[in-house]
Amino acid sequence: QTPSKPPPLPSPLRFSKFFQSNMRILVTGGAGFIGSHLVDKLMENEKNEVIVVDNYFTGSKDNLRKWIGHPRFELIRHDVTEPLLVEVDQIYHLACPASPIFYKHNPVKTIKTNVIGTLNMLGLAKRVGARILLTSTSEVYGDPLIHPQPETYWGNVNPIGVRSCYDEGKRVAETLMFDYHRQHGIEIRIARIFNTYGPRMNIDDGRVVSNFIAQALRGEPLTVQKPGTQTRSFCFVSDMVDGLIRLMEGENTGPINIGNPGEFTMLELAETVKELINPKVEIKMVENTPDDPRQRKPDITKAKELLGWEPKVKLRDGLPLMEEDFRLRLGVSKEN
Ligand code: NAD
Ligand code: UDP
Ligand code: UDP
Repeated sequence: QTPSKPPPLPSPLRFSKFFQSNMRILVTGGAGFIGSHLVDKLMENEKNEVIVVDNYFTGSKDNLRKWIGHPRFELIRHDVTEPLLVEVDQIYHLACPASPIFYKHNPVKTIKTNVIGTLNMLGLAKRVGARILLTSTSEVYGDPLIHPQPETYWGNVNPIGVRSCYDEGKRVAETLMFDYHRQHGIEIRIARIFNTYGPRMNIDDGRVVSNFIAQALRGEPLTVQKPGTQTRSFCFVSDMVDGLIRLMEGENTGPINIGNPGEFTMLELAETVKELINPKVEIKMVENTPDDPRQRKPDITKAKELLGWEPKVKLRDGLPLMEEDFRLRLGVSKEN
């Protein structure tokens, strides 16, 4: 016997429709790398009011400094594992450390952020009738046995490894999103984000692109983790933000892969950074960490068909844009 379906919700009591005001958008994790670029884009539209909540674990107010004091912008120090009461129309839920060194630093907190944090944002979405977008990850595919990865692939994830707090945390977050959608009629969107890079990445957050660029600029060896043949596909942040906004504004719940299908081995990436930024640096092989996925490349057929989206910025064009930002922050001029 199939369980009886709950009655459909009345047409959402959208805050802006009710008060005839601007569109109010909450961005959790908005002080982080992707979040702050998303805020920049959302703030370009004069009809948007943006509220950022962030606990500054990996993000920084500095990423948002141009908006602080702006009448359509508000920044709240808040941890999403605690309940949040605000009145909004849309929620972009990004809050979660994304770099392995940070999410492994306090794995229990990472799980709480993914599970309790997402539950709270869904409770909020339910109370105010907001549409909510979750930034999930290609890590839900684990060490994938299917290549490239389509959204229909269920993944190959170690449930008890050192990466599980993040991978399994995001998998539960996706489950919660779909359960709130089915049980309470919440409007959901799920983006499965593949490796993203660009200006404002934390310089020392241990991710491969930020590591290689910082190392090249400091004249240190580029540390390729063994075997170096593992692959990733890197998406420039402006393309990512464009994909996230299209997904939020469109009619499809997802999950939808958002990423750049250009696939590189870590050795190829190191060679490219060396050639573009500092041909004098060495490439050094170092030990890897457990459960490192061997290959990763998005199948973006769905994003193309359903969102009319595909990435525009090639790795060779995106790296110099990131180099410029890292030079400024590290104080390394072009002549050095
Ligand atoms: P980031 O670390 O720069 O940003 C995450 C932000 O969330 C930070 O500002 C951090 O302070 C905040 N945060 C963390 N825990 C919080 C909590 N409990 N309460 C409130 N704020 C909290 O990372 P990012 O690269 O901008 O990633 C953003 C989102 O995209 C994350 O959900 C991440 O899982 C997802 N994602 C990123 C990538 C990538 O390559 N960058 C890939 C896949 C998925
Ligand atoms: N919640 C929140 N803000 C709101 C509404 C709910 O943070 O505006 C939190 C609430 O504290 C709860 C979670 O979201 O822990 C789930 O809320 P829901 O109403 O779905 O469940 P319940 O409160 O009935 O457990
Ligand atoms: N990696 C590397 N050198 C580094 C940092 C990472 O070779 O200094 C490799 C790592 O082994 C992995 C890939 O780069 O295969 C991507 O790692 P990252 O931490 O950036 O992201 P994720 O593993 O989450 O995709």
